[in-house]
Amino acid sequence: MAHLFFDLDRTLWHHERNHALFFQGLHSEMGWPGAAGDWAVTYLATNDRLWDHIQAHNLGVDYVRARRFPLLFREMGLSLSSVREAELLAAACEARIKERLPDMGAGYEGVPEACAVLRARGHRLHVITNGVAGPQERKIAALGLTDHFDVVMTSDAAQSYKPSGEIYRAALEAAGARASESWMIGDSLMRDILGGQQAGMRTAWFRAEDALPPDAEAAPDLEFGDWHAFPELLEGALQRG
Ligand SMILES: [Mg+2]
Repeated sequence: MAHLFFDLDRTLWHHERNHALFFQGLHSEMGWPGAAGDWAVTYLATNDRLWDHIQAHNLGVDYVRARRFPLLFREMGLSLSSVREAELLAAACEARIKERLPDMGAGYEGVPEACAVLRARGHRLHVITNGVAGPQERKIAALGLTDHFDVVMTSDAAQSYKPSGEIYRAALEAAGARASESWMIGDSLMRDILGGQQAGMRTAWFRAEDALPPDAEAAPDLEFGDWHAFPELLEGALQRG
């Protein structure tokens, strides 16, 4: 039996696909010019940049929420008559993303099957995610995975972002797990693989076809791009010891 800690965004929950769906709706509702896909891509780049900033400086998510839509309007050249109009529109968009995005359930192919197999083999499954509990738990529910996970540790609850040791320690403690019997599985070499290794865990790196470029150099114990193949890869690694 192993304790398996999973990252959520871009590991289980398909960040790009869910945002594309959300922006299709928002774009048509708002009557914005151009293609919805361009709005989604620009939003994600802006949002990622702001998240990099708060993670580097240990700031709260409100910093991101106050800035991402005003920056998006500017980058997309949306003509607005006043600062006040931009503020009101940004607030309306924030309300919609909060209301809708976490209930979108596009995940990576094979995730539910892999989770079911791993649980059937007696492993304990958990999540460690940089995010806020409410929306992150809704994403897990939208994926249909709520019953698989024992502990969902968020950066908001731990007051610390991956790769910091504090959030890893909080997750291990909540799960009653020793690092030596634990794995961290995620898409980010910096936050999941190096963070997990520094916490004393073994690590598996998920590389989706449409993954972001690597954000660090690291040597995970396993690499995989197909969730259907993951349970066997893990079992092999566990048997090799
Ligand atoms: Mg991730």
